[in-house]
Amino acid sequence: MRHNLARARARAPGAQVWAVIKANAYGHGLAAALAAFEDADGLALVEFDKAAALRSLGWRKPVLMLEGAFEAADVAQARRERLSLIVHEPGQLDWLAGVGGDPVVPVYLKFDSGMRRLGFDAAGLRSAHARLSNLPGVACRGFASHFANADLAGGTDAAIAAFDAAVADLPGERSLANSAAVLGVPPAHRDWVRPGVMLYGGSPYADRSAADCGLRPAMRLESRLIAVRALGRGDAIGYGSTFVADRPMRVGVVACGYADGYPRHAPTGTPIAVAGRLTRTVGRVSMDMLSVDLDPVPGAQVGDAVELWGGPRVAIDDVAAAAGTIGYELMCALAPRVPVVVDEGRD
Ligand SMILES: *Cc1c(COP(=O)(O)O)cnc(C)c1O
Repeated sequence: MRHNLARARARAPGAQVWAVIKANAYGHGLAAALAAFEDADGLALVEFDKAAALRSLGWRKPVLMLEGAFEAADVAQARRERLSLIVHEPGQLDWLAGVGGDPVVPVYLKFDSGMRRLGFDAAGLRSAHARLSNLPGVACRGFASHFANADLAGGTDAAIAAFDAAVADLPGERSLANSAAVLGVPPAHRDWVRPGVMLYGGSPYADRSAADCGLRPAMRLESRLIAVRALGRGDAIGYGSTFVADRPMRVGVVACGYADGYPRHAPTGTPIAVAGRLTRTVGRVSMDMLSVDLDPVPGAQVGDAVELWGGPRVAIDDVAAAAGTIGYELMCALAPRVPVVVDEGRD
């Protein structure tokens, strides 16, 4: 994670970095994120209880709440704990109007540059800014937007132009770039970048690997073979008997299933490694187990190490692609029952 943060900095040398740590640091844990991102200029997330945890764990630099306040109490907490708030909705201004002066709540107004989830249009941004400027308890620090298509060539051109027009003569910082824009859209870097998935070694692109982006996986999911079986021709394995051996073969049973966060939709053929050899899953993933083809691993036996993702042979993005999703979802879905070992390895 330290290496990947350094990559983000190297790609956007003029910008400050908000390391995005929402969703339990994309499944990696807040404590690990705090240790790895101690050099970040700020941390960004969505959850107010986790923001409080960051402050009590000693994080003193800026904290940006990416969806802003969900209720009035969040504004009071932001004021107490010095959290910066995105403001994307007039109701959030009403809550901010209720707080007095010093200490002021730092705020970034969000512009909708084409995602059409959160944010003001150009006229709405102007009136929100005018209203904010008259509130005693608020300091407007600047403006932010989030791209819908930063992973596609040219996918940010119209969004950047719309943002620039909307904020043209308004003073303050600018923040636009997610991981894909950090890696691929220098004109979007501006004052603050907001990398997320790249910090954990996931690719923000469908067609470019994390390794190609110079990133290193932060999460390695491992297990072991707990059984080895011989299948005869015509034998099926797993729920629904979806895989049937067309010849005699050996299969291994791995102690990892969807209750651990391994995607149940991963079909036969999803990459997995046993004893350092790349092979494939066979049959349905069940709650606590999945099965693997041991033909490419002739000496495999019970107890052998299994790499589900994130080691030298299996990229999380490849498992995700096989299962019809993205690495982001697999990281976030890592289940609480999986024992976590944090490798402090300062290299
Ligand atoms: C999650 C998020 C990011 C980080 O996105 P990645 O694609 O993971 O880099 C940046 N900005 C906002 C507003 C987000 O919600």
